Amino acid sequence: MYWEKDLETMDRKKLAELQLSRLKDTLAYAEKSYYYGKTYKEKKINADSIRSLHDIQKIPFTTKDDLREHWPYGFIAVDKDELVRMHSSSGTTGRATVIFHTANDLAVWSNLLARCMYMAGMRKSDVFQNMMTYGLFTGGLGFHYGAEKIGALVIPAGAGNSKRQIQLMRDFVTTAVHVIPSYALHLSTVFEELKLDPRKDTSVKIAFLGAEPHTEKMRRKIEEIYGYKAFNSYGLSEMNGPGVAFECPYQDGMHIWEDSFLVEIIDPATLQPVADGEEGELVMTTLQRAGMPILRYRTKDLTRIIPELCSCGRTHRRIERIKGRTDDMLIIKGVNIFPMQIEKKLMEIPGVGTNFLIILERKEFNDSMTVKVEVSKELFSGELKQLEMLRKKIIEELKSEILITPKVDLVEQDIIPKGEGKAVRVIDKRKD
Ligand code: AMP
Ligand code: ZN
Repeated sequence: MYWEKDLETMDRKKLAELQLSRLKDTLAYAEKSYYYGKTYKEKKINADSIRSLHDIQKIPFTTKDDLREHWPYGFIAVDKDELVRMHSSSGTTGRATVIFHTANDLAVWSNLLARCMYMAGMRKSDVFQNMMTYGLFTGGLGFHYGAEKIGALVIPAGAGNSKRQIQLMRDFVTTAVHVIPSYALHLSTVFEELKLDPRKDTSVKIAFLGAEPHTEKMRRKIEEIYGYKAFNSYGLSEMNGPGVAFECPYQDGMHIWEDSFLVEIIDPATLQPVADGEEGELVMTTLQRAGMPILRYRTKDLTRIIPELCSCGRTHRRIERIKGRTDDMLIIKGVNIFPMQIEKKLMEIPGVGTNFLIILERKEFNDSMTVKVEVSKELFSGELKQLEMLRKKIIEELKSEILITPKVDLVEQDIIPKGEGKAVRVIDKRKD
């Protein structure tokens, strides 16, 4: 039932001691990176400033902007020769935040994923189909190596190509899958098209759902359609990727692996810690990463710690399903998108007006993004051919930036309502 019983059920006092010793190590090697070396000097801190876990509050937060500003190598804390892999956050072809790993960092990460999947019930005898994008995105290779570590037979199917996914599932008798929740729903429509019933015509018993927010209702719906048990998997590239927090068989919150991450929940307005059990922004410090340690990373994800112990016997605390974000990042089909990326691209295209609106919808289990773009009155009442060319250009340009293909509607200048306050850039109509 446990992958590493001693660690997973460790007495909380001992766990805190382990965290403190790992935190001290982390602080010592973080200093070797350009960024933290500079920060320690500016703030007059060093690894010895930390005598208790509480002292972490003396360390400043790290944000995505810090990572971006010190792109590409400003955070590495080892000789570059020691690095063996790079990953990045999903979503942009521009300067995505990049994360580097040593061989040992990867071993630790794979082990965390093995722990997660084992906890949910996956075993050596399982056939595991990984329906996530392989490559820079962490969901592919991360789960892949974790599943191999358990000894399961891994089908590295990658994302998309729905008919082939179904064929693979049936031909090789897949028993466990890793899938983005919105894709699981979409895939169910392809089963329908093929006149197949996933409950009867496949043997999948376990699914890992991750990479994007989804509600309890959506999980239950997926479980109902497929007849499998679906476990919520949370992670972010800055903290390796998946393998940060994961549901146990009780499916009541996700155990966050506190031997590998130091967890804080803060009030995003005051940046002060909230009371135990209160909702706030999740902040994390890596405790076992040598290549690129990150201290007090502001995830911008909103959740709360569930203070009660879980019935499964694991002592690592649980976080609740992610409630939302403190910034305006959108996640569409597992891809992270900031409205600012769209704005920047649009403003570079001649003929495009100043206002735009992003509309997100879910139809037939399929998420779509429509961007309404204002164009000048002259252009709008001009030749249709020209307008169509502009529309196609916008689609192309946006696709090259955000990786997904949006629908684009051109509208006349001043059609999109302008409120008095902050411009509303996004209308999210997606419901379960
Ligand atoms: P990335 O860095 O591209 O892996 O994106 C990480 C972000 O995806 C997180 O900060 C979350 O906002 C979101 N995310 C990942 N997994 C989940 C999940 N299970 N539930 C809700 N949001 C998630
Ligand atoms: Zn549990």
